[in-house]
Amino acid sequence: METTLSKLTETRNFINGVFVSGNGNRMDVYSPLDGQKISTVPLSSPQELDAAVQAARAAFPEWSSRTLKERVQVLYKYRELLAKHRDELTEICHIENGKTWGESQAEVDKSIELTEFACSLPQIVSNEIQEVSRGVEVRLDRKPLGVVASIVPFNFPNMVPHWTIPNAIALGNCMILKPSEVVPLSSIRIAELLKEAGLPDGVFNIVNGGKEIVESICDHPEIKAVSFVGSTKVAKIVYQRATSNLKRCVALGGAKNHLIVLPDAHEEMTASNVIASMSGCAGQRCMAAAVMVGVDKVDHIVNRMVEEANKVKPGDTLGSVISKEAKERIEKYITEAEAAGAKVLVDGRNAVVKGKEGGYYVGPTVVDHVTPDMAIAKEEVFGPVISIIRTKSLDDAITIENSSGYGNAAAVFTQSGGAAKEVMERASAGMVGVNIGVPVPREPFPFGGWNDSKFGVCDITGKSSIEFWTQNKKTTVKWNPEARTNWMS
Ligand code: NAD
Repeated sequence: METTLSKLTETRNFINGVFVSGNGNRMDVYSPLDGQKISTVPLSSPQELDAAVQAARAAFPEWSSRTLKERVQVLYKYRELLAKHRDELTEICHIENGKTWGESQAEVDKSIELTEFACSLPQIVSNEIQEVSRGVEVRLDRKPLGVVASIVPFNFPNMVPHWTIPNAIALGNCMILKPSEVVPLSSIRIAELLKEAGLPDGVFNIVNGGKEIVESICDHPEIKAVSFVGSTKVAKIVYQRATSNLKRCVALGGAKNHLIVLPDAHEEMTASNVIASMSGCAGQRCMAAAVMVGVDKVDHIVNRMVEEANKVKPGDTLGSVISKEAKERIEKYITEAEAAGAKVLVDGRNAVVKGKEGGYYVGPTVVDHVTPDMAIAKEEVFGPVISIIRTKSLDDAITIENSSGYGNAAAVFTQSGGAAKEVMERASAGMVGVNIGVPVPREPFPFGGWNDSKFGVCDITGKSSIEFWTQNKKTTVKWNPEARTNWMS
């Protein structure tokens, strides 16, 4: 039987409403579930990027001249198409990324929610007007920027593109998407469904590739704004390069999220939340729990976490990690921590899934008695691994959280309002949870971290994205020429 995936054996660029094969320079794409080759992806040239930019430029005058209410009509239809094709989009995400079916479905559902937010923009984006002087008004209109770009990572092939596409185009921009070259398939269906929903050609384009095409995006003089989501190393490169070319940029980076657990925390809820946070999406999400800082006597919670971790089964309730290299990197962190004196309570190394021996699996891993100086405590492991650091006081725990260079998320598990408030106030992170393991702020609240987890002023979603994807035009009007002359005349 021909599945959706079997039609996607050759990924193409999408320029001016048409799929194009590219210059012949291609890379193989593998499913991390079993290591099988599933497609190839173009490694595009700067000339191919330029063709997409010219298509976007040509589409901009007509698209941006429509009212916001007219533009979101396309997104209403697109939202229905996402819902209609939910299973197919789930399948593509599952196979190309390796996350479980349920996690892939949740990702598609989140894309639907993100599109719904864009549909609501006409209710939110009201222009401002005020009589600033007798007979004189100032009005502030939000205008689109023009051609913009969105560069995305491998870990959410469907959801992260939806952090930017619906809002940017609803607000009147024309977009170039640069998918991750290791998961380029979900974007194909996104393009097809946007076209089916009635999006004019050129408003949304895809240019595939890696480092070279990202650099070309940062350099292209006609691209006005760049959003980036990925590792901190590349976020810094993109932010510096795009802004040095005088572009607006928001660049989200990596994470090392600390969950502070106090002895009074609800045992079952805390243990299941911490394990779900560290193992969901195989730990490959920027909101995953990486370090649990246990304050004082938390052995009862750690024991319960071990029970919860042992219930998580690779190939069933736990997906694969993205590549052989990722599996090796994650396992190396565990081995080095163990050699330095940490205790591996649940060991996910050498996980093999029967029938999928070629897949890249790491089982859930709980490492206790980690010290803050170990690499596993400081660096982004990006796998289903939780490091437990023991402390005597809440103050020490907050100091450990604050010392991380990252600042995406932090959380506290406690039944004490005072302790929770202390962490809410003092955590050095953009997104904080109280008794929540994955504190993603849902729309209309914006998503974005602090410190090395984000470069740039705006957050990437929600109301903050309105600021990022538009520029203000301030118009001063004297309606009645006979109005008295004053200092504004
Ligand atoms: P990555 O930084 O390797 O790649 C991201 C994008 O940058 C891809 O499109 C890739 O093609 C491109 N790229 C890679 N190397 C480049 C280079 N040297 N120069 C220019 N472009 C380059 O990230 P990844 O491995 O795809 O994704 C995982 C990372 O993304 C993790 O660090 C994770 O924490 C982070 N992430 C952060 C958030 C957030 O909201 N802060 C969300 C999702 C993922």
